Amino acid sequence: MKVKVPLEEFDGLQRDLVERSRRIAQDEIAPHAAHWDREKEFPERSFQILTREGFTALTVPREYGGAGLGVFEGCLVIEEIAAACLSSAMTIQMQVNGPPRVIARLGSEAQKRHYLGRIVEGKARFAIAMTEPQAGSDGTALETTLSPDGDGFRLTGTKCHITGAAYANAFLVFCRAPQTAGPDGIGAVLIDADVEGLAPIETEDKMGGRGVPEGVLRFDNAPVRADQVILEPRAGSRDGAAFLVRQFNPERCGNAAMSVGIARAALEHAIEYMKQREQFGRPVIEFQGIQWRIADMATRLDAARLLLWRAAKSDVEGFPGIRETAMAKLFANETAVAICNEAIELLGHKGYLTRYPLERYFRDARGLGIGGGTTHILRNMIGGEVTGIRVSQRRKS
Ligand SMILES: Cc1cc2nc3c(=O)[nH]c(=O)nc-3n(C[C@H](O)[C@H](O)[C@H](O)COP(=O)(O)OP(=O)(O)OC[C@H]3O[C@@H](n4cnc5c(N)ncnc54)[C@H](O)[C@@H]3O)c2cc1C
Repeated sequence: MKVKVPLEEFDGLQRDLVERSRRIAQDEIAPHAAHWDREKEFPERSFQILTREGFTALTVPREYGGAGLGVFEGCLVIEEIAAACLSSAMTIQMQVNGPPRVIARLGSEAQKRHYLGRIVEGKARFAIAMTEPQAGSDGTALETTLSPDGDGFRLTGTKCHITGAAYANAFLVFCRAPQTAGPDGIGAVLIDADVEGLAPIETEDKMGGRGVPEGVLRFDNAPVRADQVILEPRAGSRDGAAFLVRQFNPERCGNAAMSVGIARAALEHAIEYMKQREQFGRPVIEFQGIQWRIADMATRLDAARLLLWRAAKSDVEGFPGIRETAMAKLFANETAVAICNEAIELLGHKGYLTRYPLERYFRDARGLGIGGGTTHILRNMIGGEVTGIRVSQRRKS
């Protein structure tokens, strides 16, 4: 069946990565995926296996003990893992495409040694905290404030919908300088989960990716040392806001890779089923109408993967291009939902039963088009990039 990544296109290292992650995904992860979803259990076993294989340290620079690979290689691995289990892929998405990239790019030497070294050892688990109750698509409406306090700072504010919050031991938290608003005065700090002033984390029950729930972080005057600031929020500076937009691009590529993985798994499952299922005295797969639907699904899947590879390869210093990334994520997110939906129909009632994986794939795919920027926001970005006319979304007062 030709829906997987074609190995002949790759060099030795990339080929090894795909073969190794595919084997681990099939043999060690896929058999447990339904359990983690049903029981809403964090796939700790997957995280340990993926750490053992060095996948959590894939994009950590070599001088800090990682493999020093790029967004492209990260996406190859994440597609394979997500095709077996989205929750397992989510355990490494933040390590491969999240805060470690920001640390590698902006961190002090001490921050790099401390955090990147712990990622390589499988000891640091990151979550990224941007969204707030009043600041979703409008990330620059964030209110969490970093106030000077003696030699250090204090952090106060609430973050919500933070993936893996309850399982992370370190957070990259976006915040702002006192008395600033909008894109002015945004920055970021690195906070350990045992910091004083962080309330017990509430988790949010959700539809898909249920092994790794989102959570709410409430900081009340949490102490922050000066050496934990990675991007100091400064009144009168918009650098932090500009960086906030760019730093999401690796994560968006990883999100698109997860969408491609789920779409591929759904298509493979549907094809296998239709080869076995007979109606009118012949396998369903032989009907012309069914072959055309498979053709459309496979074409969309390849297009999504190719857009993703283009985005991942547009990586400059670890941050892929805005236009390429937004197109890849948008198309991959919508493709995953469309292919899962179509596959459910192709299985008939068995596509609708919880004992088969398609309904899980469908639920898993749905959240990917919201997290990391909704499909509407991605369209806004693409429209602005393509036309050169970037329309302010803010109401004029
Ligand atoms: C699975 C998942 C994981 C997530 N993980 C994290 C995480 O780890 N860290 C984190 O910080 N956040 C995370 N989020 C939060 C995510 O970033 C936000 O949900 C997302 O940015 C949208 O914000 P919102 O939910 O508040 O929707 P809103 O911003 O309230 O949007 C509501 C609707 O209005 C539309 N809309 C808003 N503005 C515009 C506009 N200008 N033009 C057109 N349409 C618009 C939106 O597209 C949406 O349909 C996650 C979300 C999900 C679903």
